Amino acid sequence: MASAYEALLEFVRETGQLAAIQELLDWDQQVCMPPKGVHARAEQVGLVAGLVHERLTSPRMGDALAALTEPTGDPVADTNIRETRRAYDRAVKVPGDLVREIARTSALAHEAWAQARRESDFPTFAPFLERLVDLRRRVAECIGYVVEPYDALLDEYEPGMSTAQVAELFAALRRGLVPLVQAVAGAARRPDASILTRHYPIDAQRELVLEISRAMGFDFEAGRMDVSTHPFTSGSCPGDVRLTTRYDDHFLPSALFGAMHEVGHGLYQQGLPAEHVFTPMGASVSLGIHESQSRMWENLVGRSAAFWHCWYADVQRRFPDALADVGREAFLGAVNAVSPSFIRVEADEVTYNLHIILRFELEREIVQGRLAVADIPQAWNAKFTELLGVTPPDDRRGCLQDIHWSMGAFGYFPTYALGNLYAAQFFSAARQAIPDLDDRVAGGDLRTLLDWLRENIHCHGQRYRATELVEKVTGQPLRVGPFLDYVRGKMSPFYGLR
Ligand code: ZN
Repeated sequence: MASAYEALLEFVRETGQLAAIQELLDWDQQVCMPPKGVHARAEQVGLVAGLVHERLTSPRMGDALAALTEPTGDPVADTNIRETRRAYDRAVKVPGDLVREIARTSALAHEAWAQARRESDFPTFAPFLERLVDLRRRVAECIGYVVEPYDALLDEYEPGMSTAQVAELFAALRRGLVPLVQAVAGAARRPDASILTRHYPIDAQRELVLEISRAMGFDFEAGRMDVSTHPFTSGSCPGDVRLTTRYDDHFLPSALFGAMHEVGHGLYQQGLPAEHVFTPMGASVSLGIHESQSRMWENLVGRSAAFWHCWYADVQRRFPDALADVGREAFLGAVNAVSPSFIRVEADEVTYNLHIILRFELEREIVQGRLAVADIPQAWNAKFTELLGVTPPDDRRGCLQDIHWSMGAFGYFPTYALGNLYAAQFFSAARQAIPDLDDRVAGGDLRTLLDWLRENIHCHGQRYRATELVEKVTGQPLRVGPFLDYVRGKMSPFYGLR
């Protein structure tokens, strides 16, 4: 028994190493590869991806799993077997031809999408999107689902979460957020966010970002921070975590909160149990849980009064021209300003989830075949107006803005909003466990929170599915209450709401 497991584990570890090599190739492409390397790199990435898929679906994997049907009684082994079986089952159910067809179509769709977005021309992208919807539906049919095909797609990014659960959470979120956005829009008082678009020299921003990252506990002996067009975090072992950020000398939040977000992801990666590296026990739970870590540091810590109590004088000193005449309260209001806008990645904490709810509701209908691809722009704009009270002027700032659908990644969007909900519920539990948490943050101590996250979330790897982890850590299933209480409580003073 032990030897069958050991054999499986060795194969899983090597497969994990290969996947890590693929990730490193991708990081290099986005951060330092010269442009002419693109063709050779595409071949290298394709080769390694093929090797990973081949191993994941190999008879060796299947035979090893077939010999391990009984629980071992060891939670580490049981987790590794359960999650490896899940990955194997999903991978073998989808025929290789279909996988290759999706890869080919996505590559073409990506080009078509990039051009369509530039020219705000949805009809030229529509045929590619139709093809991808059809291919993804076939994937859902191959994998199987209980209620609707979207379940199979969502499960890829948020294992164990059902469409019905997401729909229920989002309906409650929508009921809470829409009136809040309306109240904010009609408020007599509002913070002045324009101070954030003054001139902030990039060298000073870089130094600030590094100092905050260190204070958060990011280990630069076990990670790096570089610059890329689209910030991301990569690295599948705790000893080598790659983050990126981007700087805009006329918009401070881009690098400041962008970096705190990615450092949040990075701290999770660095906190995963190193002894289980390249196995499920050493991996993150889900995209939603990953996002909970980044959003907690970015928003619940980074946009809090406690955090700026400690950091504002320092920031003001670094940017005397921009901030000499700005008080701490005014700055805090500016970084928390709420305003309906068209672009998801620029959205504030309150309206952000409405952008996600819109995408979830549309893609669920698209996958079910109830919304035709050709009708997406109209449906998008109608729903956007309903949720946010403003109408996108064109498709570039509407349904063409995100890359996800051009990759066929239906089911991915909900994890962003789930991340916000997990973050608020985890943070509220952290506050209960550490009653003086705010005082500690205000005094510059960010390590107490990190230690709590390490002990309660990071150390478990994939031992618990996201829904179980939330119950274990907070004593409650995932709810919208903690998030709604948090945003209502935070925005009320800035907008004079009662
Ligand atoms: Zn993120």
